[in-house]
This record gives sequence, structure tokens and C-alpha cells, in this order.
Amino acid sequence: MNITINGTGYVGLVTGVCLADLGNHVFCLDLDPVKIQTLNSGGIPIYEPGLADLVHSNVAAKRLIFSTDVDAAVAHGDVQFIAVGTPPDEDGSADLKYVLAAARSIGRSMNGFKVIVDKSTVPVGTAEKVSAVIRDELTRRGLGDQRFAVVSNPEFLKEGAAVEDFMRPDRIVLGVDDNDDGREALAVMRKLYAPFNRNHERTRVMNVKSAEFTKYAANAMLATRISFMNELANLADKVGADIEMVRQGIGSDPRIGYSFLYAGTGYGGSCFPKDVQALVRSAGEHGQRLQVLESVEAVNKAQKNVIVRKIFERFGNDLRGKTFAVWGLAFKPNTDDMREAPSRVLLGALARAGARIVAHDPVAVHETKRVLPLDFADAPACIEQIGFATDPVAALEGADALVIMTEWKAYRSPNLERLKAVMKAPVIFDGRNLYEPETMRAAGVSYFGVGRNSH
Ligand code: NAD
Repeated sequence: MNITINGTGYVGLVTGVCLADLGNHVFCLDLDPVKIQTLNSGGIPIYEPGLADLVHSNVAAKRLIFSTDVDAAVAHGDVQFIAVGTPPDEDGSADLKYVLAAARSIGRSMNGFKVIVDKSTVPVGTAEKVSAVIRDELTRRGLGDQRFAVVSNPEFLKEGAAVEDFMRPDRIVLGVDDNDDGREALAVMRKLYAPFNRNHERTRVMNVKSAEFTKYAANAMLATRISFMNELANLADKVGADIEMVRQGIGSDPRIGYSFLYAGTGYGGSCFPKDVQALVRSAGEHGQRLQVLESVEAVNKAQKNVIVRKIFERFGNDLRGKTFAVWGLAFKPNTDDMREAPSRVLLGALARAGARIVAHDPVAVHETKRVLPLDFADAPACIEQIGFATDPVAALEGADALVIMTEWKAYRSPNLERLKAVMKAPVIFDGRNLYEPETMRAAGVSYFGVGRNSH
């Protein structure tokens, strides 16, 4: 099939590459000329395991092209995916300007029946807006009778495992209208996704609004589990319980399960924070409060300071003359994504309190350097206090404490003797509960986890 992807970011690039790998001819459009130039010269603008090889082999097989040519992109694809960003507006609701701009450019030059697929995470009712914009453009061109269909096909991939998730989805949600155009679109989408359904059917067909809602409900549920555990972890610290024991104790109940019950420094990334906010705002527009999710959001915001609080308790609020090693910057392992990363809150607080920081991350240092000027717009001099090490042990030299912010595999089994030899004092603030408090205590390390009764 001929497929166009409007928006070649995390989701668009992965979608495009994976569909090309299944034999489709994919045109990836982006308005960012630097991104397209990078891709056309063999570079990959994001870090995602397995992505580079797949891009290179599909470009070589001439199934995948990258371009900024909007008209050519619209002409190419019988299926037009919209995978542009939906960042939070000033009030937290999803900003649809990129989605509607993409819809407009499709309507401006499309000829013949097209299936327009909303892959971006968008509030209930967006497909109707996309339809209206396209119809508007067609009418302006005197093509008011031109048929097309808008499908909702939210994406559930996880950064860090995006290719694997896309290639082996738990489910494929398709929201279609119950009319001739919708049925034709459904047939096209079933054909496109047929390779994923060979062993068992993963497709869930529903109406468009339910599909749009499903994506928000999924992210809201996952965010709720995290905030729930974080709130309990803070209480565990006070009452002397170990939240890891509690997690195992409740996770063994199949009604609860183990996933997404890890206490830590709060969720970040480009999805949970903005999607929870957007759902809360969208409920507000319908005169309803989502009180559980309001709390999920508030708890998460506070939790991003949990380690800062523990550091201030230990060292006081004035950190001049102190050096902190930070292991992990990305909002989670296997990605370089720094959007809403808890490490940004930590760096901000420590540097403003006068500390020196030496940070390590296997892939996110470049992206961190890009966002630091945004975070320190009011105090640019603080950026000078933040340095970077190329390996984890080098970051520890002369440090008063080590802070762990991302659970990269490389941090899981530290050499404690070496750590003790190079640090000023063996103190660890573990925002990801990577280590056993008992092991740390036995090794003579002052260890502060989250909810682990560890100090
Ligand atoms: P992103 O910011 O990485 O990429 C969006 C891209 O769209 C950018 O490269 C931008 O230049 C481009 N763009 C903007 N307007 C355009 C236009 N009119 N035509 C062509 N390109 C245009 O965003 P992302 O992380 O890939 O997220 C995209 C959507 O998918 C969002 O709605 C997000 O919520 C959703 N989503 C993201 C993830 C994730 O893990 N990142 C997972 C599931 C769903």
C-alpha cells in the first residue's frame, strides 16, 4: 500500500518504518527541514533501540522516503496518518493546531478517496474536527462531494521499546464511522494491519469517540497506578514499611498484577503528564470533574521533588560546596526523551541551591544540554554548575552523594568498593529503588530509597 505519515517524530517515524518493513511504500513527511535532512543523510533524530537498522534497510529497499514536500506527501498515500504532536495548551488541554494544520494540508490537495488516520493522541471529538477541516478545504476547491474517511487509531507504543511494541501490539484500536466511507476505511485498515493479526485477532473495532477515549483512559489508568504507589511510598517511609515488599505482596493478586506499581520520582515523558491534564480539562469542558485524576496529577507534581526533599533533609537547603553525581537523565531507560523528565526538577533544585552536579546518561546528555537553557531561563549562570561524565564511575569522583534518576540497566550492579573509594562519602539517593537497602547497609552505604524505610 502507499502510506503517508504526517509528522516524523517518535510515533510517526516508528509507524512509518515498521509499515515500510511490512512491504508498504511509505512517505514520511515532516515540516522540520533539519529532521528530514538528518534522516536523508542516514542519521536518526531520536534514540530508539532497533530503529536505525530498520530505517537504513527500508530506505535501501526504496520503501521509505523522507521529505518536507507537503503536496507530494498528500499525493502519495491512500492512507494518510496524522502523527504530529498534541502538546498541552496553556490551560492543559490538548493543542490541536498541528493536527488541524495537517488535516488542512491534506484537504488542500487531495484527489480521490483517502483514509485519514488520527494516530496522534487527541481528545474525543477531534476526528469530527479533522473531517470538518478537510471538508471545508474540499468545498473551497469545488470538490465538496469528494469521499474520504477519518479513522481513529491511537498508538500505544512505549518509547524505549517502540519498534517491538509496534511490531507486536497488544491491541490495535480502530475507531470508524458506521457508514459507507467508514466501512471502506475499515477494510483498508484491516488489510494494512493484517500481518499483525495472523496468529490471533488483535483489532478492536469501535466507534470513533470510544477509540479516542480509549487512549486517554489507558494512560490515565497507568498514571493512576504510579501516583497511587508513590503516595503510599511516602507513607511507608513514615510508618517504617518497605514499599517494595508491599508491591510484591499486592502484585501477586491477579486482580492487581505487578505492572506499573513501582514507586519512584514520579512519571514524566511526553504522554502521561499531558494526557492526564488533557482528560481533566476535557471533562471540565463537559461540566464534570475527574477528581481521581486531579489528584493523580497533583501527587505526581509533588513526587518529582521527593529526592530533592530527602537531599535537603540530609544536607540542608544550602548546597554550596557540595557535589552530586547523577545517574540517569532521560525520563525512562532506553530513550533520550527529556520531556517532563523528573531529572529536570532535580537539576533545577540542586543547581539553584548552589550544588555542583556531574551527570551521566548513556544517551540523553545531548538532549539534556538542549533543554537546560529552557529550564534555567531565569538563572542561566546555574548551567555552569552542571557537568557531564562519559561513564558512570567518572561521575562519582569526589561526590558527596549519588542520585539515581533513571533505571538504566548499566546502573543496576554498581561496584560498591570502587564507589566508596572514589566518592567523598558513600551516600546514595535512589529515585528508582534499584538496590536493596539491606545490601547497601551491609556495604556501609547511607542509602535513601523511595518508600523503603531505608534511612
Ligand atoms: P514528536 O514531537 O516527536 O513528533 C511530531 C512531529 O510532527 C515533529 O517532528 C513535527 O515537526 C511534526 N509536525 C508538526 N506539524 C506537522 C505537519 N503539519 N505536517 C507534518 N509534520 C508536522 O511527537 P510524538 O512523541 O511522536 O507524538 C506524536 C503524537 O503521538 C502525540 O499526540 C502523542 O501524544 C502521541 N503518542 C506519543 C507516544 C510517545 O511515546 N511519544 C506514544 C503514543 C502516542
